Amino acid sequence: MDKNEIYRMLPKVDRLMTEENIQEMISRHGYECVHKAVNSVLGRAREGLARCGSEQEARACIAEIPEQIRRVLEGWERPGLKPVVNGTGIILHTGLGRAPLGESALQAAMKIAGGYSNLEYDLEKGQRGERCLNFEELVCRVTGAEAAMAVNNNAGAVLLALSAVAGGGEVVVSRGELVEIGGGFRIPEIMELGGARLREAGTTNRTRLTDYENAVSGETRAFLKVHTSNYRIVGFTCSVSLGELCKLGRARKIPVIQDLGSGVLVNLEKYGLEHEPTVQEAVAQGADVVCFSGDKLMGGPQAGIIAGRKEYIEKIRRHPLVRALRIDKFTAAALEAVFREYLHPESEEVKIPVLHMLSETEDSLRRKAENMAASLRNAAGIHSADCSPGERERRAEQPGVLAEIAVEPCVSRTGGGSLPMQDIRSYAVTVAPREITAEELGRRLRGKEIPVIGRISGERFFMDVRTVEEKYGGYLSEIFRGGDILRKGGRP
Ligand SMILES: *Cc1c(COP(=O)(O)O)cnc(C)c1O
Repeated sequence: MDKNEIYRMLPKVDRLMTEENIQEMISRHGYECVHKAVNSVLGRAREGLARCGSEQEARACIAEIPEQIRRVLEGWERPGLKPVVNGTGIILHTGLGRAPLGESALQAAMKIAGGYSNLEYDLEKGQRGERCLNFEELVCRVTGAEAAMAVNNNAGAVLLALSAVAGGGEVVVSRGELVEIGGGFRIPEIMELGGARLREAGTTNRTRLTDYENAVSGETRAFLKVHTSNYRIVGFTCSVSLGELCKLGRARKIPVIQDLGSGVLVNLEKYGLEHEPTVQEAVAQGADVVCFSGDKLMGGPQAGIIAGRKEYIEKIRRHPLVRALRIDKFTAAALEAVFREYLHPESEEVKIPVLHMLSETEDSLRRKAENMAASLRNAAGIHSADCSPGERERRAEQPGVLAEIAVEPCVSRTGGGSLPMQDIRSYAVTVAPREITAEELGRRLRGKEIPVIGRISGERFFMDVRTVEEKYGGYLSEIFRGGDILRKGGRP
């Protein structure tokens, strides 16, 4: 059979569109959509036919066309952005959307997003008002600041604060704090964007108060302190505390801007973690402007909060960049709800998922991991590995054993460039498949309707249970039911 004859076997678009199974797709997806899918599949089939050697092969190719059309249509319907199961143990995983929101924030966002609100409307005067003023007082009560506002994210907050307070002048920063946060956020570049000139003080490992004093000139408009949230300088070091710098700032009438990065509003020591400077401390130590993220350790939506002295917040509010960086209405609603949770400091870890995950004890995590491992083994029909290591190995060698599913200690991280040196002990469910590689298992799990993201180490797939939401327990068992996901050539 020559190529032209093979091409002639390809069904015509118009005829395909009248076929019964295609008609059924049209009733579900609409004529236009199906027409596009048919054209796209036929185009690909034509290329496929060019590679077919025999008539038989060509017929097999053509027989697959309706199924391919169905798959294309289903692919178009599927949302691109979807929930995932976070088994990485990284609580603020930037790739996975950082902080999950708690119930009150979700409710607040939903209530506001679906209708009109007084987002920028002064109800008393009956006219246009200012965005974010609705919860300014609340932010002030929680942080102790005189005034506050919020923008799209903390990178925006720092850019805006620098532009408004120091644009056209110089900003003095310690060389030990010229950081890159990730995703291209570098302090020197942000400074340049904000129209301020960088004036470096001290050295990478040591900066003293006199270094700041010597860097001051007639052009100095601000001191900037950046919390080195994603790295530590250790060894022969010295730095100037925020309190000391604020004293110098007051004496020289130079405002101090503190980029705190992750905005912590509680003392993390109560969860057995290292102390991380809180927003309240920065305000109390005299920082004139404090910038921090909404979706890092604060546990809220993506936002950049700027809190500080009224004089500077007013100045920042009037800067034209505010319009470009403004916060969206459902973010504002969620942010307000999260701040409200911080008015009750005895129960935040119940209401704020990030703090809940941080506060979980090793004991409770081990139990959670053991329960999960047992359900997965059960679902996959695998015997318990709950025996001596020798016995376990002997059983694992037996033919027909699909995998070893066990519980192992592991280390969680806060992520989001916070608490970089902190090891947070946790437990993982580990799966060591026998017929396929751990990489292949990881790939199969990522391909699921709700993808499961984990870590691979030593030929085992690790799921740190600290970040796996309780509600996914049943879903994970379903995935392992029957053990097909672990089988070579199985239909995962
Ligand atoms: C994370 C971080 C930022 C950026 O905050 P985003 O909310 O991600 O925009 C800025 N500065 C520091 C010190 C940070 O840790």
